[in-house]
Amino acid sequence: RQDGKKLGVALVGLGKYSAEELAPALKETQRCRLAGIVTGTREKADKWKQRYSIPDQNVYNYENFDEIKNNPDIDIVYVVLPNSMHAEYTIRAAKAGKHVICEKPMAVTVKEGEEMIKACREANRMLSIGYRLHFEPHHLSFMEFAKKKTYGPIKKVIADDGMDIDPNVWRLEKRLAGGGPLMDVGIYCVQAALYSTGELPVSVTAQEGKKTDMERFKEVEQSMDWQLQFPSGAVAHCRTSYAEDMNKLRVEAQKGWYELDPAYPYSGIKGKTSQGDMGLKNVSQQARQMDDFADCIINKKKTRVPGEMGLRDVKILLATYEAARTGKKVPL
Ligand code: NDP
Repeated sequence: RQDGKKLGVALVGLGKYSAEELAPALKETQRCRLAGIVTGTREKADKWKQRYSIPDQNVYNYENFDEIKNNPDIDIVYVVLPNSMHAEYTIRAAKAGKHVICEKPMAVTVKEGEEMIKACREANRMLSIGYRLHFEPHHLSFMEFAKKKTYGPIKKVIADDGMDIDPNVWRLEKRLAGGGPLMDVGIYCVQAALYSTGELPVSVTAQEGKKTDMERFKEVEQSMDWQLQFPSGAVAHCRTSYAEDMNKLRVEAQKGWYELDPAYPYSGIKGKTSQGDMGLKNVSQQARQMDDFADCIINKKKTRVPGEMGLRDVKILLATYEAARTGKKVPL
């Protein structure tokens, strides 16, 4: 906008990520602001209205959400719901004429992802995925190293992301989550493998870990090891788990290595290379991510994290499950 007015963002689903990361980040953003909320929980609506000075008419629930169409305060709808709800709310937002940011994983099936992209295209609205690490200085350096071959050709990527999850959460329900740790945090390993090599993988092999806690992991995998093979010959060795903390990214290239440990948190990422400390600062990834999207809308630029990237990753994740199930190398 020419008048310098900030674009209005409505957060859909006021869970942990919205409350602890996105809403605080929206206080730091320059080009967008928290203007509305969509929630199924009355008490949250009251609390958020007060805390963030949100007027009554900018508060929606899941039933009256489509009325957001008539609200000029809302430019961007940010879908922060359980994974299997992403498609429905992204499509409804697009039909309401809003630009959309959708959290990862974009969808739980390829068909859903395709429909989300189509709905946004037909509505002439932009769609981006909440891939915050594309706005993080350490990860941006890894992308640069791949582009410039700073350390020569890349041979191997090691990417691990896992946590010890609480029982009784939607992330353990297949219907809502679409899968286990692979869908939730393994996606960071896939993302990192692709931008750290600057290549698209040609195939995947995978091995599901043994379940040692049948109570928690009735519906989804407990852990997964998988390998992505790239055209250059580089291989990414990835691991994820809901029963073990791990958080690392390491790249081995012909002329050296570089690694992040921890690699994927909101802050406190630490990087070093075979030359020494990376010496980079941590920033508000979410503020940069949302400001960049607002900037793309205002200046009619393409987002670096479009729906197509989200769909690409869903395909890789689903192929990884297939590889684990069949024991075969699955072409991508
Ligand atoms: P939470 O469980 O903390 O919150 C989800 C919210 O969704 C709930 O609080 C609720 O909000 C709403 N909701 C609506 N229907 C349901 C339902 N059937 N079951 C549970 N919740 C429901 O999840 P997170 O905030 O951790 O995750 C939300 C999304 O964000 C996920 O897709 C996740 O992958 C993604 N995420 C991304 C991160 C990133 O770094 N990019 C980090 C963390 C999460 P209400 O009460 O307002 O209706």
